[in-house]
Amino acid sequence: MADMKIPRATAKRLPIYYQYLNILADAGQKRISSSEFAAGVKVDPRTIRRDFSHFGTLGKRGYGYDVADLLAFFKKILKQDQVTKVALVGVGNLGHALLNFNFHRDNNIAIRAAFDIDPAVVGTTIDDIRVYPLTELQNQLQKQAIKVVILTVPEAAAQTVTDQLIAAGVEGIMNFTPTRINVPATVIVQNVNLTSELQTLIYFLNHRTLDQQGTNKE
Ligand code: ATP
Repeated sequence: MADMKIPRATAKRLPIYYQYLNILADAGQKRISSSEFAAGVKVDPRTIRRDFSHFGTLGKRGYGYDVADLLAFFKKILKQDQVTKVALVGVGNLGHALLNFNFHRDNNIAIRAAFDIDPAVVGTTIDDIRVYPLTELQNQLQKQAIKVVILTVPEAAAQTVTDQLIAAGVEGIMNFTPTRINVPATVIVQNVNLTSELQTLIYFLNHRTLDQQGTNKE
């Protein structure tokens, strides 16, 4: 399962499916038809069938999906059955907001350490997360066995910090900087550019047709 290759677009939809299944399970729903599921996640039923086909047979024809079974399956796939430790580098406005966002309240993602070069922020604690000087990066990441990092440094520092992350053994970077960072093939980067997401939304607003209303764009 760990080596399974699935399309990136599919991988991006898995958390949506997982979150919706959690809502269903919390509401005590035991079973859901594929069309209800599609309506709930606002994804085309054919796309869902194609996504699910990467994992074998997940539903039964004429029955739909067993909520608990499917939830358990995605929990495992998304590693939500174990805590993933994460660090954040760059405690500016965005970094600060993400530390306060507290991923761990709803998910098994825990930000365990933050790093910065600014003496004004180094040594402080934000929502129980200690801000270390950047010089402590390698030491702390290795000591705490952290392999995933959220990068919220200024654009100019993005590559230098990335190189330090790689040297410290980081395997996954959530890159909030607008820079396309260079990493070796063993490291996975997820780029999150809030400005371009907003620009895309504005583009769709200005070019929408009636049949696009109420749809989700990936
Ligand atoms: P943003 O809203 O993007 O977070 P900001 O104005 O709050 O912007 P930036 O100048 O983008 O702050 O810097 C973000 C944080 O990154 C700051 O706290 C800054 O001290 C820190 N920073 C800058 N360079 C480095 C670096 N090389 N390593 C670690 N942190 C850095």
